[in-house]
Amino acid sequence: MQRRTLLQNLISSVVALPMLASADAKIIEYTSSFGYQDSRTTGVLTRPDEESYMRRAIRLAGNNPKYPFAALLVDQKGVVVAEGWNRSVHNPTWHGEMDAINKCAASHPKIDWTTLTLYTTAEPCAMCQGAVAWAGISRVVFGSSIPFLKTLNWWAIDIRAEEIARLSSFRKCSVSGGILEDECNKLFRTALTIK
Ligand SMILES: [Zn+2]
Repeated sequence: MQRRTLLQNLISSVVALPMLASADAKIIEYTSSFGYQDSRTTGVLTRPDEESYMRRAIRLAGNNPKYPFAALLVDQKGVVVAEGWNRSVHNPTWHGEMDAINKCAASHPKIDWTTLTLYTTAEPCAMCQGAVAWAGISRVVFGSSIPFLKTLNWWAIDIRAEEIARLSSFRKCSVSGGILEDECNKLFRTALTIK
């Protein structure tokens, strides 16, 4: 009997530990990756650079202040190749990220998606992060997090973008959060007051 209990304990700790590690540790790691060196370019991408792209995404969100999900795609030279914002009034799947990806596909049919970074006011949902994987986009930078959106009762599929990136093993994609987070959070708080 005692042996059985020990075995059960052993099994539950083996199962539980990796889950804890992936659920908690990764988020901390990803939210603190500011001021990194981007090895794909000759220059160094600094936090002010990241913030300027996020600021542009925040401005784009003004196209739909009630649903301020906006995104842009930036190539290795820092050129914005596509912009998008939530247009779900026309199509429920046209989230900001999907809009940017669709516009990029239309305007740059031969683009190397692996060279692109997606900046988005909110952490991509499962659909959008899935699209990032299928496209092959190699970096995602977001402002507001899914846990934050949930606290405001925004609809959210409860899985982190980093988790989807990690499970999409056919691609390599880094996910960073927390860029201009306060400004982005304000967008989503204010949106709820718009009738
Ligand atoms: Zn989405």
